[in-house]
Amino acid sequence: MIRINKNYSKLQASYLFSNIAKRVAQFQEGNPDRELIKLGIGDVTRALPSSVIAAFHEGVDDMARESTFKGYGPEQGYPFLREAIAEGDFRSRGCNIAAGDVFVSDGAKCDTGNFQELFADDAVIAVPDPVYPVYVDTNVMAGRTGYSENGRYEGIVYLESTEENNYVPLPYDGLRADLIYLCFPNNPTGATATRAQLESWVDWALANKALILFDAAYVSFIRDESLPHSIFEIEGASRCCVEFRSFSKNAGFTGTRCGYVVITDECTVYDGEGNPCPLKPLWNRRHTTKFNGTSYPVQKAAAAVYTEEGKKQVRELTDYYLENAKIIREGVQSLGYHCVGGDNSPYIWVKSGMDSWEAFDMLLSKAGVVITPGSGFGKCGDGYFRISAFNDRDKVIKAMEKIKLALS
Ligand SMILES: *Cc1c(COP(=O)(O)O)cnc(C)c1O
Repeated sequence: MIRINKNYSKLQASYLFSNIAKRVAQFQEGNPDRELIKLGIGDVTRALPSSVIAAFHEGVDDMARESTFKGYGPEQGYPFLREAIAEGDFRSRGCNIAAGDVFVSDGAKCDTGNFQELFADDAVIAVPDPVYPVYVDTNVMAGRTGYSENGRYEGIVYLESTEENNYVPLPYDGLRADLIYLCFPNNPTGATATRAQLESWVDWALANKALILFDAAYVSFIRDESLPHSIFEIEGASRCCVEFRSFSKNAGFTGTRCGYVVITDECTVYDGEGNPCPLKPLWNRRHTTKFNGTSYPVQKAAAAVYTEEGKKQVRELTDYYLENAKIIREGVQSLGYHCVGGDNSPYIWVKSGMDSWEAFDMLLSKAGVVITPGSGFGKCGDGYFRISAFNDRDKVIKAMEKIKLALS
């Protein structure tokens, strides 16, 4: 008899996006003539930059000729891309990262989801609240939690991101955790962490022999140059941190699929007897066993992001969404609402003070705008909603006009 992994029964059904879709469909049925503007889901809307497209085409043409055809490539990624990443994203910012520290993948969702399998069943996990659900659900599937009650799983440590701490949780006396997930600029709050804040996490991890999984999927939206762009800008981080990156939000690869993980030779974890062992060979073993490489044309396309033209175009793309974010943030603030994000991030996290779903229904029916209820991201999201800047400018402007009319 084939029996199922019982941990799957612990998973809370993700009602968030299906619930949103249901409510939107109901509303449209009742109001067929009302126009709806969707600022809910965190997906990009603009096309790939032309330099990326040109390289993508080149990669496809290479596959059409026997002399340049590629079969299986290195599972860790082609040297041309690993080198471009190490130089373009790290060494150019003073971080000592080698091409061999970079593991190319088909995106950061898989990487952040898969990484936990390198660690002990009883490792204690800490996640921010509100949170990108992938970190939590993959640990539930692996059996590291009990059942959930009131939206929180037994056995997980929740790091609360609230107005009081400016949405940046810090290590505290008595915190006990082995594996800590951090994400800055944050999804869903849009909050960013300062150098001093990240230093306190790195110091804590080193002192406690813990590992930080740092999700930097939104790093290309940082415009405040005093903010760190990589966890590896922090002293000691190469010994206790792994960084996840993605081409999804900077270069528009959500449907093209490419991301990467960075692990240095110094990064140390511990065996059952407490002896130190290097982390990188473990991920290398996992990656080469369960993954067979990112498609060659996609890697060619990703490498174009690091050309002069590519850098300029990615900057233009992210500038476009950041201008949307500014329009949203200023609109929200002009209505007297407290919010965070939207300056170094494409998300604006708004404190409505209302039940999350009540706010959702109100904005839907009165303004015809779809947002994401904060409670879908965790207990601390109650009373908040997330507005995404990923949409066309004219739609964003229109949405804010409608929200202002509805709320004032
Ligand atoms: C969008 C996003 C990612 C990137 O996912 P991909 O699989 O690379 O598209 C990673 N982490 C967070 C928090 C995200 O919002």
